Amino acid sequence: EAVTVGDLAKKMGVKANEVINKLMRMGLMATINQSIDFDAASLIATEFDYQVEPVGMEYDESMFKVESAAENLKPRAPVVTIMGHVDHGKTSLLDAIRKTRVTEGEAGGITQAIGAYHVNLKGREIVFLDTPGHEAFTAMRARGAQVTDIVVLVVAADDGVMDQTVEAINHSKVAGVPIIVAINKIDKPEADPGRIKQALTEYSLIPEEWGGDTIFCEVSAKQKIGIEELLELILLQADILELKADPDRPARGVVIEARLDRGRGPVATVLIQEGTLHEGDAFVSKTEYGRVRAMNDDQGRRIRVAGPATPVEVIGFSRVPQASAEFNAVEDEKKARSIGEYWLRKERERELSATSKITLEQLYEKMKEGVKELNVILRADVQGSLEALADALTKLSTDDIKLKVIHGSTGAITETDVMLASASNAIIIGFNVRPDARVTELAEAEGVDIKLYDIIYNVIADVRAAMEGLLEPEY
Ligand code: GDP
Repeated sequence: EAVTVGDLAKKMGVKANEVINKLMRMGLMATINQSIDFDAASLIATEFDYQVEPVGMEYDESMFKVESAAENLKPRAPVVTIMGHVDHGKTSLLDAIRKTRVTEGEAGGITQAIGAYHVNLKGREIVFLDTPGHEAFTAMRARGAQVTDIVVLVVAADDGVMDQTVEAINHSKVAGVPIIVAINKIDKPEADPGRIKQALTEYSLIPEEWGGDTIFCEVSAKQKIGIEELLELILLQADILELKADPDRPARGVVIEARLDRGRGPVATVLIQEGTLHEGDAFVSKTEYGRVRAMNDDQGRRIRVAGPATPVEVIGFSRVPQASAEFNAVEDEKKARSIGEYWLRKERERELSATSKITLEQLYEKMKEGVKELNVILRADVQGSLEALADALTKLSTDDIKLKVIHGSTGAITETDVMLASASNAIIIGFNVRPDARVTELAEAEGVDIKLYDIIYNVIADVRAAMEGLLEPEY
């Protein structure tokens, strides 16, 4: 079970400050009331020559992450999210792609809106997430769910690289997800794809014909031009990624969306990522659990098995699960319930201790050998200060710590900034801008640091101090 920093210190007969200090040297800011999980507490305790013993049963998400033997891995379909600036054609493109399968003669082509759908191309499948944009993408990531393999970045050929285009690029890059650029609206007379390509080189998206490795595709979502070509390029990118999964193991996936259906009770769309889910399987999804009473595919058809990279609607949850929660099939319902209830208890404990918990993973991440990184999201009132700050901050990088401005833009701090910070362990620096109450609240809930300044010198001084804190002392 979890223990707070204060309790751990007391049990070891050391001052809480010493524990906090130790954590800080590992690069973690902790308060006396913050709780530490078992493994992290063990690690800290050994530093003081103590051992920690567990009390009661522990369940950990890691128990589901069994490595499959290489020979059991089979190719799987790619999962794609469409991103881009508002009005550049994300929704239209999703619709155009969806309609390609009607011509392929799939039964009726009646599409259920379940949050994801698949299309077939020459015997292969591609899965599209139905919520376009980087907000949903990053919110999932902040909850620890990485479901997207490939991002299709839509840029309107008659417009250009806009704010949300840049945000989408940065959010994909931090996530390490490759981008395919779809230059849309090429049917328009004023369309100028060359100008878009040129503008995107500034963000390191360089087409192959110019010596880069980014795949570009010219499309018209409205006139249905280039759609099949785009799908082919997605499959090409998928081949490069060598996406694989083991179908012969208990199903593991992520809840894409969930709701309470009047007739059917709690219903969730689950993207199966590994293994195969069968009708009748018991499962747990964070604090919720159940048994698969029925499954439907993205065309509303009842199915009995669902393999890797399949979005399915699952009926049989005890209560509505949280979107982005992990989903795991387990041996039987008894086990499912016991894990679900255990996690519910943990969640309550966490709420009580109010602050986010330090885990072993975090500790190891901070202690990882080699270059340490401090990720920063910058917001400033004007472009001039933004550039000056980004420049000055990046120059603070040393051989030991790299400072990375993962996103910078003008204007107020947004909720999306907070989610990006949460997903990528970044701090947010606001210069002559402030977050509104909703953003502040979200930052508190996510445990994201927002620092506000109006003097450049102070920004530099504080960040330098933080970086020195990240360094382990030399002996
Ligand atoms: P979103 O905000 O990115 O989802 O953009 P929408 O898909 O809602 O498209 C915004 C507008 O652009 C709509 O009026 C669409 O009809 C129009 N549009 C989208 N794709 C194309 C295209 O390929 N050509 C033209 N001419 N208009 C398009």
